[in-house]
Amino acid sequence: MKAAVMHEFGGPEVLTYEELADPQPRKDQVLVGVRACALNHLDLWVRKGLPGVNLPHILGSDISGEIVEVGEYVHGLKVGQRVVLAPLHFCGQCEQCAAGRQNLCREFTVIGNGVDGGNCELIAARPMSVFPIPDALDFVQAASVPLVFLTAFHMLTGRASVRPGQTVLVLGANSGVGIAAIQMAKLFGATVIATAGDERKAERAKELGADFVVNHYRQKIGDEVRKITNKAGVDIVIEHVGPATWGESVKSLKPGGVLVTCGATTGPKVEIDLRFLFSRQLSFLGSYMGTLGELHEVLKLVFSGKLMPVVDKVFPLSEVRAAHEYLEKSQMFGKVVLEV
Ligand SMILES: [Zn+2]
Repeated sequence: MKAAVMHEFGGPEVLTYEELADPQPRKDQVLVGVRACALNHLDLWVRKGLPGVNLPHILGSDISGEIVEVGEYVHGLKVGQRVVLAPLHFCGQCEQCAAGRQNLCREFTVIGNGVDGGNCELIAARPMSVFPIPDALDFVQAASVPLVFLTAFHMLTGRASVRPGQTVLVLGANSGVGIAAIQMAKLFGATVIATAGDERKAERAKELGADFVVNHYRQKIGDEVRKITNKAGVDIVIEHVGPATWGESVKSLKPGGVLVTCGATTGPKVEIDLRFLFSRQLSFLGSYMGTLGELHEVLKLVFSGKLMPVVDKVFPLSEVRAAHEYLEKSQMFGKVVLEV
């Protein structure tokens, strides 16, 4: 099969498009012919070098395709079915996995991070990670969904327990998580304040349902949130940016508010003023991907049209370097997807 392979860590130039041996699925797996694989910021981090990544390595967490082979022990799936794969890798037998909390498994990692991903023509998968997709959803759209929609769903429901009537601040409206979180918070009956870096992105955020948009380059997020909420602040902040916005995110919280973060795009270290934390009774929560059960729930919302994937640009797999360069410029609104 053809694959985009990394033999070393570094810039986009370390990605080489080459011929590899086809994977041999086990009897309890299906073999999926990959048709599309969406990029995430995670691909950039892994490409630059993360601990626990063995070389050579194949990137790619968000995979859609067609089943081309079904193992002897697999039931309920058939050759030719159009599917999307869960971007989760877990042991499947520990206490956490048994309780349905796969993202707390000791072996948990994201497909394409700790294990090889879908920037290739064929991938083997366990049946529990394979989700048939409706005809209305094409492969590119389907590949745009799993990682960011699952992440946003776990942040808003599993961690922050969003309720109707609350106000949610979503950082970075143009990011995959931002696009998912805006739509989801609206669906759950919240008022949404989003942040965006320019007018075009602000307009797109409003089209997705954001009630208010703050320009995070020209305006102070905390001040604008105070104005919009009549000094009350927000119930929930959806963070993934890190040091560049952390202070403003904390300032935007109302007493008892919850900040939930799933990323550190601008760096790993932030300051916490303990006096604010205890006196205003704030909660700072970490969130990492989500569970298989949550993926079932969120995919139902996508398949029924209540949540919409947003695709920015499609590249052929052979142009994976150009796709990485494009993603690194952060000019996109929506997902960058490789077509296989
Ligand atoms: Zn486990």
